[in-house]
Amino acid sequence: MSYCPNCGTENEVGAKFCSNCATKLDFQVRAEPTRRVISKPLILGAVALILILLVVLVILPRGLGIYGTYEMENFPAYFTEIKRDGTFSLTMWGMRIDGRWEREGNRLTFIVPGFPTSSGTIEGNRIIADDGSVWIKRR
Ligand SMILES: [Zn+2]
Repeated sequence: MSYCPNCGTENEVGAKFCSNCATKLDFQVRAEPTRRVISKPLILGAVALILILLVVLVILPRGLGIYGTYEMENFPAYFTEIKRDGTFSLTMWGMRIDGRWEREGNRLTFIVPGFPTSSGTIEGNRIIADDGSVWIKRR
């Protein structure tokens, strides 16, 4: 709608002169403000999606910290503790071997001086060692 600035008469949109007092209306077209209504569920959905993407793309690939203690599947007497300082200790029947670990992507390499290097692949909360053994992170 277009309102005349002089007399306030409502005129048709696009009218050049007021139908009541003939005042020029060129710049008096009052357009309805365009309101962009974004519904709350849509915003919540978008926020949830961003959070999910953040977790899947950023946090999970880095591992929610691979650090922790892993037990050999069906063989809890064997466990490996992966420490934040880059070292690990493997315990078998109470016998402990210490070394250091390196990570490249989802691959882990365990280095023990004087022993052959062993490695494995990180899959979620498990490490699938190249020798076929599966190590599950303790809760
Ligand atoms: Zn008028």
